[in-house]
Amino acid sequence: MTLSHAEFQAIASKLTPNGRAFIDGTFCDAADGGKFETTNPATGQVLAEVAHCKAADIDRAVVAARRVFDAGTWSRAEPEERKQVLLKVAQLIREHVHELAVLESLDTGKTINDCMAEIGGEVPKFFQWYAELADKTFGKIAPTGPRAMALITREPAGVAGAVLPWNFPLVMAAWKIAPALAVGCSAVVKPAEQTPLTAIRLAELMQQAGVPDGVINIVPGFGETAGAAIGLHNDIDTVSFTGSTEVGRMFMRYSGDSNLKGVGLEMGGKSPFIVLADAAIDDELIEHAAMSAFWNGGQNCSANMRQLIAAPLVEEFTARMVERVRSFTLGDPLDPATDIGSMITKDHKETVLSYIQSGVDEGADKIMGGNSELPGYFIEPTVFRNVSPGMRIAREEIFGPVLGIMPVATPEEALAIARDTDYGLHATVFTRDIDRAIDFARSLPCGTVSVNGFSEGDIKTPFGGYKQSGSMARDNGTEALEQYLQTKTIWIQTRPGSG
Ligand code: NAD
Repeated sequence: MTLSHAEFQAIASKLTPNGRAFIDGTFCDAADGGKFETTNPATGQVLAEVAHCKAADIDRAVVAARRVFDAGTWSRAEPEERKQVLLKVAQLIREHVHELAVLESLDTGKTINDCMAEIGGEVPKFFQWYAELADKTFGKIAPTGPRAMALITREPAGVAGAVLPWNFPLVMAAWKIAPALAVGCSAVVKPAEQTPLTAIRLAELMQQAGVPDGVINIVPGFGETAGAAIGLHNDIDTVSFTGSTEVGRMFMRYSGDSNLKGVGLEMGGKSPFIVLADAAIDDELIEHAAMSAFWNGGQNCSANMRQLIAAPLVEEFTARMVERVRSFTLGDPLDPATDIGSMITKDHKETVLSYIQSGVDEGADKIMGGNSELPGYFIEPTVFRNVSPGMRIAREEIFGPVLGIMPVATPEEALAIARDTDYGLHATVFTRDIDRAIDFARSLPCGTVSVNGFSEGDIKTPFGGYKQSGSMARDNGTEALEQYLQTKTIWIQTRPGSG
């Protein structure tokens, strides 16, 4: 049920967010008593003091996770039992959707509509989907001669680390926790320092659902301390990271410098949105173009921020985009009438503004947007035209509401520009020519290609990046399970004639 602005504000006024770590089934402070504040970026208001976990706390969480993993309480439980508990987690999230959505909106500056959609829709669906897979994931039997039987079995990897970004806090937590726990791993999860509150609340609901102590541990803290301690821990078997490419590289190094743990990386992007000359510039296309860029204020890894438009269409496209983007309302994230909330921090706002300035300095034509007069860290959606492929705003991930429109003369030019990037997360192409669509889908080196609509896919389809947007790992789909499973061969020698 959709609530009014006043009703969401009333929920917010009653919240008393918990900022303590959750280790071995107990809420606790950091071992050294350290704390940091988490604030509402739309107002600057402090929401909670949060446990500042460091290596000693990570170690405590890993010891608990290992103990319960080795005991088999969860890792060797009947798969149906894990399924029932994770289904209960999904149910509890749905029952607490308003509280969780308000908490998420306050901690991130995201709009309440997006938070409701994520926490009422996607997040419980992830738990439900992986719960349902818990008792439907089979091994294989290899063909052998009569003297052997060879079983190829899948076993949980052990203790899984997860290090999360701030742009979709609870969605990202669910992407990692649901498949890890479905297959029997224990988890040590570090939410982003900017947005720890919903993951901490989730731990409480998971305990209520029956997840045994030690199976889920939430350790808030900073990257250089808590994040690095997870990457470097010798008793974590696999780590799944979502965040920037720069930090993703560190996780590869951490693994090499410690126990060679498995590393799954989901990182940044600079994704193209391509409109070929035969496409119709209608309301639907404009809606996809606008949402692909400005959904979540552009703080989205798959944001389509390079819009490559066939030259004969570029004027009409630009005029209609500007009209659509002007209709977005910036403001209080708790107001359901708001379309775009706040940037996550003051520093991030300054970074985004410096990119806008670089676009102006490099000669792109800024036709709308820029700084906002609102208090908090708001930036108006910004559109540049006449962007050329070499400009910084065309090459680097800005992670804010800054769109560049580029005219392209031919489909070949569009493809060449789209491919010319270190990233490979996502691409969209609009065309009515099925052969072109298939050709583009096959030729674009990225993990998801979306044709005649912007979409990241859904829970059933794997999500991840080519090139420097990802490792070979994928989140979502049955592919996500690979991050949390080991393959074991059991070769059984048989005696001839014994049967
Ligand atoms: P970030 O890399 O700065 O931080 C991500 C996480 O890593 C945080 O928990 C942070 O504390 C931790 N971290 C930071 N420095 C660390 C270090 N030295 N050692 C260990 N851990 C460290 O990224 P962010 O700013 O939180 O998120 C934005 C980035 O995430 C963007 O690049 C975006 O594209 C990417 N992202 C990717 C996906 C995807 O699925 N591919 C999804 C969402 C976000």
